[in-house]
Amino acid sequence: MNIMLFGAPGAGKGTQAKYIIDRYGIPQISTGDILREAISQGTAMGIEAKKYMDEGKLVPDSTMIGIIRDRLKESDCKKGFILDGFPRTLAQAEALEQLLKELNMNLDRVISLNVPDELIVGRIIGRRVCSKCGASFHVINNPPKVDGICDYCGGELIMRKDDNKETVEKRLIAYHEQTAPLFNFYKGKGIMSEVDGTAEISEITKKIFEILG
Ligand code: AMP
Repeated sequence: MNIMLFGAPGAGKGTQAKYIIDRYGIPQISTGDILREAISQGTAMGIEAKKYMDEGKLVPDSTMIGIIRDRLKESDCKKGFILDGFPRTLAQAEALEQLLKELNMNLDRVISLNVPDELIVGRIIGRRVCSKCGASFHVINNPPKVDGICDYCGGELIMRKDDNKETVEKRLIAYHEQTAPLFNFYKGKGIMSEVDGTAEISEITKKIFEILG
């Protein structure tokens, strides 16, 4: 099963991806996580990408398409994958179509997690992510069992550098200008399903499982 999670920053894509991994045993491909890993390793790509990320801007399409091309060719994607944070522009969506065709794959379903803008800033400011495995928590809506420690791997929970009010506002602008138009792109293909992203986390997971079957 090849699926994509779609939605604004802070809509809950990463949180839901973890439950989908558990149920279907398919890998999550989070382009944000891949970029953060490249930054922590100090690669040339990471150093370049960081400039855009710190500014709340999208990293250039050519870089992102290269990342996805390499990742989708890895053997674990043969059984399926969850795209989280890619594509974010029409050029990326079109490149993905082409790439999937080359690899003899299909995108089966896109799940849009709908959350109004006015809730996004609070969700992101309260977000804490695991420095080791990337799992997401929220200080109020989804606290870890032990303060500051990841439930899944015991890693330290940190606040992302771009999870501040000023950068979130820029990320939201980028989302509306460049990413939101993809909603109609996938709706037109008949593979778009919408879920209320403001519901309880477990309720959202239940709806997603109903959709995916
Ligand atoms: P995320 O973890 O998905 O919120 O992504 C964090 C940041 O990484 C974004 O604000 C962008 O700067 C960059 N990024 C992640 N995925 C993409 C993408 N598909 N296209 C462009 N930039 C991306």
